[in-house]
Amino acid sequence: MGGESDELGTRLKAYEGRPAASTGVGKDPVNAAMIRHWCEATGDTHPAYAGPDAVAPPTMLQAWTMGGLSGHESRTGAYDELLGLLDASGCTSVVATDCEQEYLRPLRPGDEVTFDTVVESVSGRKTTKLGTGYFVTTRTEVRVAGEPVGTHRFRILKYAPAPRTPAPKDTEPRRSPGTRPRPVVNRDNAGFWEGVAGHRLLIQRCTGCATLRHPWLPGCNACGCPDWDTVEASGEGTVYSYVVMHHPPFPAFDPPYAVGLVELAEGVRMVSDVVGVPYDKVRIGMPVRLAFRSYDDVTLPVFEGVER
Ligand code: ZN
Repeated sequence: MGGESDELGTRLKAYEGRPAASTGVGKDPVNAAMIRHWCEATGDTHPAYAGPDAVAPPTMLQAWTMGGLSGHESRTGAYDELLGLLDASGCTSVVATDCEQEYLRPLRPGDEVTFDTVVESVSGRKTTKLGTGYFVTTRTEVRVAGEPVGTHRFRILKYAPAPRTPAPKDTEPRRSPGTRPRPVVNRDNAGFWEGVAGHRLLIQRCTGCATLRHPWLPGCNACGCPDWDTVEASGEGTVYSYVVMHHPPFPAFDPPYAVGLVELAEGVRMVSDVVGVPYDKVRIGMPVRLAFRSYDDVTLPVFEGVER
């Protein structure tokens, strides 16, 4: 390891033990509404989390310390400084790698949490598949009325992205940066893309209960039957919803442009380009008609707006 990287490593190490948040106060006491939302979102129906004697799911530990959109006043400058140093060194990308929690006692509605966070450790310089950088671990001690109730460790990798490796020779040829991303074709959806290549939009139909489905799936959500055939879409549809993309820019696309959720006459919906009308003329309920457009070597279904 060269002297230059050691120098950065040494400067980063100096942040170990420094506070990242001090005397933080949970924005809300532990409460039944957040517990219910969490359980609904995660599909956790454990009886311990409902009813008059409910406790909070232990994994919610971090939730009670989060600042939300408006952030926390308890945050110190040390953690931002540390991340700033990493940014300045070229480690501008970040990925959360893991989290570890320890639970000392269950949290109950009404508990008011306080917390302190320290920069626990900064690794030496590491090279991963993503790129070269440093793992930064913070440790948050959570308390209620001064008594420790749990510990939350959170680790990120701040790294300089590795250069893209060229595709091996025997796969598809390398494309210029402005070409469309390829569709991901797999065993479950290959029939759909074969249809598209022949300018047919095929909708899967369950042979058990005749329910139509899109996108393609290995089985029926309505009855569980794995058998299916297809029906060809008439090509008529309406814009069920849409967004106008402005950002982020991507070389294959020329913003602003409209992306529609199109409801086909058959009843299923699919996401696709709405073309042939200015992006700011696309409207919910607008009739659209299927078309196929070729971009380099890929054919994609799009929908042309039918102006009235
Ligand atoms: Zn079915």
